[in-house]
Amino acid sequence: MDRVIVAGGGAAGMMAAIAAASAGAEVLLLERNEKLGKKLYITGKGRCNVTNDCAVEELLDHVVTNRKFLYSAFYGFSSRDMQDFLESRGLRLKVERGNRVFPASDKASDVTACLSAELSGLGVSVRLGTRVERLSFSETADGKRAVSGVVTETGGALFADRVIVACGGMSYPSTGSTGDGYRLAVQAGHTVTELSPALCPFEAAEPFVKELQGLSLRNVGVRLTQGKKRIYEEFGEMLFTHFGVSGPAVLSASSLAAKPLKKGPLTLHIDLKPALSPEQLDARILRDFEGEKNRQFSNALGGLFPAKLIPVMVERSGIHGEKRVNAVTREERARLLALTKDFTVTLTGLRGFKEAIITQGGVKVGEVDPGTMESKLVKGLYFAGEVLDLDGFTGGYNLQIAWSTGRLAGLCAAGSRSE
Ligand SMILES: Cc1cc2nc3c(=O)[nH]c(=O)nc-3n(C[C@H](O)[C@H](O)[C@H](O)COP(=O)(O)OP(=O)(O)OC[C@H]3O[C@@H](n4cnc5c(N)ncnc54)[C@H](O)[C@@H]3O)c2cc1C
Repeated sequence: MDRVIVAGGGAAGMMAAIAAASAGAEVLLLERNEKLGKKLYITGKGRCNVTNDCAVEELLDHVVTNRKFLYSAFYGFSSRDMQDFLESRGLRLKVERGNRVFPASDKASDVTACLSAELSGLGVSVRLGTRVERLSFSETADGKRAVSGVVTETGGALFADRVIVACGGMSYPSTGSTGDGYRLAVQAGHTVTELSPALCPFEAAEPFVKELQGLSLRNVGVRLTQGKKRIYEEFGEMLFTHFGVSGPAVLSASSLAAKPLKKGPLTLHIDLKPALSPEQLDARILRDFEGEKNRQFSNALGGLFPAKLIPVMVERSGIHGEKRVNAVTREERARLLALTKDFTVTLTGLRGFKEAIITQGGVKVGEVDPGTMESKLVKGLYFAGEVLDLDGFTGGYNLQIAWSTGRLAGLCAAGSRSE
């Protein structure tokens, strides 16, 4: 029986181990932490957005980097397959806004429990507290380099016919994903592309963001530009923090920001009233002012903006807060309107890996066979999950990348493509 070692007991590693064992291999799963799936516990704010309930083409559309590479993996094990996998093992699921799939219990721990039960049912040996330090290699009869096992941090040499590296990226390093997978890949002769934090909050230049800290804006238009170039546009929710901006719409924008940020700051344009055309908004402002003729400008904006935003709107509009609204001029109203439709924030950089949901960059996919996840450089060496140069937007797509690549790597490492 072939022996497969899986390095890393996260989403991809657990799925790879399950697939390899179900295809008949003897599987040893090595995890450096004292429990499996530490990152899985915190996904989806502890609820685990396990996948997105959509067709493969749509999954591919939500992959930011190297979507073509995922064609075989996604078609081989789709979102539907993942949902069937969990439900047939007793985990009830529900689909929420944006086709996001969660366990019906709202507990990420139920996903890990389901996978752990499957691992033990299939007889996978799990060794916790075991950090893989390096790979070991041998030469095949035809002179090619092949993997022959791993060496752990404590010096233990473990033999295997095939090794799957599923050590994750380097975001949220407190979960155990500290970039070891990249080091193992480099040791095997692989190229690791430039790494940057993605799905990550931004730092902003304007001091007013501190005043707005904690303010969450729903249903706003978010547009990211650099000079005249439009980088991203979306409607949704965003949040001001003590250092800048975050929230779903902004996090998605960050996945396209790393490269442009190298050239200089970006501008975030927030449309605070995307449902209203400038004409409709002007009529709305006039109506609000009409009803409050003798009130001061700063006291007449309560119907338009959340309380926390009003002092900033007053200051940025350049209209004196104590001015009576019936004295506000047409030009001043036009300034307020322009500010409401295009409230700008200068973004100077991304927060670090500690706050990034995903790592952009990783093992160069051109050096990995997309049909098997096997290294093109070292026989018997496979990669799965975030360690690869793959990343998607929020919505369950990143975990689906882990499930699909893990599944494919596991089956192929065990010498089978189907169960
Ligand atoms: C806060 C947060 C929320 C998220 N929410 C979602 C969500 O709701 N939906 C979604 O789709 N995605 C979400 N993601 C992204 C998702 O968690 C990742 O895409 C996914 O976990 C990647 O799986 P992986 O198995 O490749 O890596 P990981 O889950 O990071 O697993 C890698 C494992 O390898 C272990 N390891 C590392 N080095 C070694 C070594 N040398 N030896 C042995 N073991 C090692 C680590 O301890 C870890 O357990 C979220 C991420 C974060 C940080």
